[in-house]
Amino acid sequence: MGQNDAVTVALITGINGQDGYFLSRILISEGYKVIGIGTRNNPSHYLDPRIQYECCDIRDVDKIVNICIKYGVFEVYNLAGVSSVAESFRNPELTKAVNFDSPSRMLTSFYTNPKLAENIRFFQASSSEMYGVSNLEPQDEDTPLAPVSPYGRWKAEMHQFCHDYAQRGFFVSSAIMYNHESFLRPTTFITRKVSRTVSEIALNLAEKLILGNLHAERDWGFAGDFAQAIRLIMKQDLPESFVVATGKTNSVLELVKIAFREVGFEGREEEFIEVNDDLLRPNEINRLVGNSMRLRKNLGWNPTLNFESIVRSMVQFDLSELKNSASNQD
Ligand code: GDP
Repeated sequence: MGQNDAVTVALITGINGQDGYFLSRILISEGYKVIGIGTRNNPSHYLDPRIQYECCDIRDVDKIVNICIKYGVFEVYNLAGVSSVAESFRNPELTKAVNFDSPSRMLTSFYTNPKLAENIRFFQASSSEMYGVSNLEPQDEDTPLAPVSPYGRWKAEMHQFCHDYAQRGFFVSSAIMYNHESFLRPTTFITRKVSRTVSEIALNLAEKLILGNLHAERDWGFAGDFAQAIRLIMKQDLPESFVVATGKTNSVLELVKIAFREVGFEGREEEFIEVNDDLLRPNEINRLVGNSMRLRKNLGWNPTLNFESIVRSMVQFDLSELKNSASNQD
């Protein structure tokens, strides 16, 4: 139990993102009090109103430590950060500050603070980007890290930092998460960009789908399933690192085909796709696929949605949102 005997308190950084949304739902259903940290003045309207929202930049580590002391936080889920690989190439300094400097300082502050050190458990959202252009496939917890983007590099540093703390006896766990998607993904990510633009094309609101590398392959899962994995990991008695992945890959082109099929434009994708070289990455990872056997065997995790269902549900969400906003304007 946490310091507060009645209710266990969890703090989630990056509460306004899709993982914050799905994880907070699970924690609240388990009876937790959730403190959510985000940089927006007000929380996302999708979030449960029972969440205690604190507007705070992840770089303000002192404020986060004070919030933890004030509320008697028992578990910290670090989901905040620059989450887009493309953005990390444009802004490597910010990526380092947010994805490594702040969380590493946070960990040190927690574990050197006598009011927190004894109780607090820490979860770090690590990423498959850390593997870089791995020749080993599928990647598991022991695959060497060889990042090729600022995002991957600082995620890898933080992952190692967490590992060092766990070795020293602190409860610091992590999940090496492959791409995971939902209706809450921003359009800076390919799945949501495709579901949104294809829906717009179907409704005559857009003419083209402009993309970069159509042949990149990713191991795409459902964000709700990944939040379940995070909870399973944090319910263990000992800290450990787990790969969270479906084990299946699809290409960007397959994603596009499923989306067009869902709006009734099957086989017509070539009429709408335009490739723009500006959207190609300076360093691209062509293919990633994860081996989540440790998580499945030891913790009983199983994904509930396959790739096609994820894409179809995102397209359906976008279609209805676009139709609603059109009818509200009438
Ligand atoms: P990432 O795997 O974390 O970088 O997730 P993204 O959803 O941003 O990108 C997945 C893959 O889609 C990468 O290999 C991108 O190069 C590729 N891709 C191709 N066109 C686009 C595009 O227009 N936007 C994004 N975000 N990715 C694209």
